[in-house]
Parts: sequence; C-alpha cells; structure tokens
Amino acid sequence: MEVRVRYAPSPTGLQHIGSVRTALFNYLYARSIGGTFILRLEDTDRTRYSEQYVQNLYETFRWLGFYWDEGPDIGGSVGPYVQSERFDQYRSYAEELVSKGEAYYCFCSEERVAKMHSDSTPEEGEGGPASYGYDRACRSIDPTEAASRAASGEAHVIRLRIPLDGTTVLNDILLGEIQFRNADVNPDPVLLKSDGFPTYHLANVVDDHLMGITHVLRAQEWLPSAPLHLIMYRAFGWAPPHICHLPMVLGDDGHKLSKRHGATALNEFRQKGYLREALINYVAMLGASYEEGRDLFSLEELGTLFRLEKINKAPAIFDYQKLEWFNGQYIRQKSDGELMELVLPYLSDAHLVEPTPDNRHRTLIKGAMPLVRERLHFLADAPAIMAYLFRDPPLAAKEEFIPKKLDALKAAAILAIDARVLAACDLDDIHGSEEKFREESAASGMKFGDLLMPLRVAVTGSRVSPPLFESIQLLGLPTILARVEASRLHLLA
Ligand code: GLU
Repeated sequence: MEVRVRYAPSPTGLQHIGSVRTALFNYLYARSIGGTFILRLEDTDRTRYSEQYVQNLYETFRWLGFYWDEGPDIGGSVGPYVQSERFDQYRSYAEELVSKGEAYYCFCSEERVAKMHSDSTPEEGEGGPASYGYDRACRSIDPTEAASRAASGEAHVIRLRIPLDGTTVLNDILLGEIQFRNADVNPDPVLLKSDGFPTYHLANVVDDHLMGITHVLRAQEWLPSAPLHLIMYRAFGWAPPHICHLPMVLGDDGHKLSKRHGATALNEFRQKGYLREALINYVAMLGASYEEGRDLFSLEELGTLFRLEKINKAPAIFDYQKLEWFNGQYIRQKSDGELMELVLPYLSDAHLVEPTPDNRHRTLIKGAMPLVRERLHFLADAPAIMAYLFRDPPLAAKEEFIPKKLDALKAAAILAIDARVLAACDLDDIHGSEEKFREESAASGMKFGDLLMPLRVAVTGSRVSPPLFESIQLLGLPTILARVEASRLHLLA
C-alpha cells in the first residue's frame, strides 16, 4: 500500500515551530517509506483566514527547502488541494450522512446555541464536555419534517449524530489504544454551517478520504477531535487512516511553547539568522530519535532514518540554547564562500555593503569568514562583529585603549610604536608580524599584551574582536595606520 501523508495547515496564523514539526515529520515519514507527502490548505475558517498566512507558508517552506509531492502550487492527481476550491462537494457528503440517519438538520438559531455555550462550562456539567455545547434539541425532529423544512429554505446547519452511549476506540500509533466514551464526545458537532461552508471536521475527514491519506500525523491538540472523526468514518462506511498524535512541544517551564518562551514563528528564527539546516535538524529531534549518540543529521539522512516507532511519547521541551548550539555547528560547517553568501544580506541590511557588493568587498568578506566563523552564533551577529572591516569604528572611550597601570599618554605612545612596527611588517606573514611585535616587546621591556591592546581597540573599536593580525592583513596598512593615528590623537586630546 502506498503511504500518503499530508500537512493540512489552516492559514490562520504564521508558520511556527509546532506546525513546521508536524510538516517535517510527515515529510520525513513519506521519504523514509517511499510515500507521498501532500500539502492541503484547510481554509474553511474564513473569519480567521488571511492571504498573508498563505504567503508565509510558501515562503517558509521554500526557505526550509523541503517540499510536498502534491499541493496547491504544483498540483497532483487528487486536487484541488485548497478546501475553498472544493466547497461544492462537502454539502453532498453532509447530506449523505443525513440520508443515512448519521447526521441531522438543526434549525436552532446561532443566539440560542451561543447562549448554551455561555451558560454551561465543562466544570459545571457532570460527565465532562457532553454536558456543555449543544443540547441536541433538533436531533429528535422527524427526518421527513426536517428535510422539508430545510428544502423550503429554513436556515439550518447539519450536525453529526454522535452515539449517546458506547465507546469509540482510537488505536493511536504513538499513544496506543484510547477509549472515548461517546457520551463525553462533543455533542453533535456541526459539519456544515448555515452558509453552506463545511467545518474543519467535515472537510478534513472527507478530504483525507478522497485524497487517499493513509496516515495522519498531527499535533496532539487534535486528539479530542479523533473520536468524532472516527465516528464520521464509520458513518460514511470508510476505513479510517492510521492516526498518530505527535508529542506536545513545551517550553522549559512545562507549558505549551508560546511567545512567552521566545520566538516561535519561523520568520523570527530566520531573521535572527538561524540556518535552515539547524532548524530542520533541531525540529526533527523534537519528539523523535534517530541514531544513538548522534545529533547532527542532514535532511536527507533524517528522511532515511525516520521511524514512527522512534517517536517519543513524552512531550518535547524546546531548548533555545540547544538550537543555538545546532546553529553554531552548521555555521562552522559552511565553506567561506557559502557563509559569505549567508551573511551578505545581513551586512547589506545594516548598510555595511551594497546588496550586490563589488569584488573588493566580496574578497574582504570571504577573507573575513575564517576570522568570524567561531564567533557567529547567528547570522544576524555578523554586522556587529564585522562592521570594523567596512568602516572606521567609532573612537572608543579613552579607558578602553589604556592597558592596566598605564595612562592615556602612555597608550598614545604605544600606538606610535605600533605604527612604526607595523610599517616594518610584511602583513601577509601573520606569524612574522606577530614576531616583530614580540621582538619590540623584548627590546622595549613593554608587555606584548600592552603593545597590542591599544592597537586592537584602534583597529576594531573594541577590546574583544576577531583575530588582530588577520584583521590588519585584510584591511591593509594605509587603513590601519589611519585608524592608529586617529586613535593616538584622540588619546592626546
Ligand atoms: N487544519 C488543521 C490544522 O490547522 C489540521 C489538523 C489535522 O491535521 O487534522 O492543524
């Protein structure tokens, strides 16, 4: 049997860690088993729908670089893949259930139903959720009468007839057998709204069936919908797909991951300069394991190693520091050329270089990559770390230049010595240049560190910087001497 899985987002929000995890697990499962991964847009909730979220979805996955085999943008044999383009079919499926006695017309006004919701809460009712929601008033209307009222144009919705007793059993791939008392299931949920739009439940089940979905891997927050969906499959006489509710993703305080914990939208991670490889690798590990004792996996490897049996029951804790670690690892793996391309947009956004830099800048940036690679936690760190390569750093406060136990005059004198030594160095020979400063230190009795500290601040604007001699080599003598002289004058002023 061909495995067919789907990612079925509702475009009512930005793509976030949880949604990307769902998409990724579906993708990886399809890859691991030679199956098909489908994107279906569940845009039935028109009040919360926004085109911007659809764009965000496409942009996010284009950036992440893993893609569906069938979907709205690329088509496929069971399209359309957007539910709003499939609206015509849902009514007939809802009517089919009515004719089978598995669903019924409900003529209650929205106000009446809304009042029922507000009058009772789960806590008040006995026996859980069944005691709130809808009181099933229209369930007992004679079907022929109901059909003629509906046919004559009386406003109505169609509700699923949830059995009043018995149980519905879910065999969840991860959670095992779960028995739901039908009496606890949401009482007679709406399948078709009064405007003819399907609800999530109807559209989701009908489309999973029509699209030949064999496995549903989705977030655990959908677990309460599972019995309802299973009841619908039974009512239609369809075999349900295998279902797997993925482990929750929590923040470090044990609560569901949310903005309170930090960034959750993929956009934010992207802007901050996380690499796609790091995000994919880390998100793939949220609730699944691959190979003992190993953390770093490419998307391709994950697609080979993914196993449903290796999904964990325990919730996954989202650890921002761990993700940062992954990011560092992947930054370190990049070649100078690759890393240059990745930092370029950040440097250009910070107006340090043109969006398409000239050759001189490209050489400079590429040459700087070995110097900054270890210091970059995120790509967005690049402008602050690298600014001194593109423009003279603002003159630091005098104290910054002054080695311990010395004063401004002495620091200025050191800069003069530095300028003299530098002028005598072959800057292409890093080791030799350093040696020249050691010789100067030995000859003058000045500490090696004291000789270099004011120079570092003059060149980079800070006591903490990428390697000094390599920076000097990149910038060239005239630039360096100008900075040293400006700093010397600043110290004397
Ligand atoms: N449209 C639902 C969502 O936004 C899909 C849930 C499911 O996978 O069944 O997550």
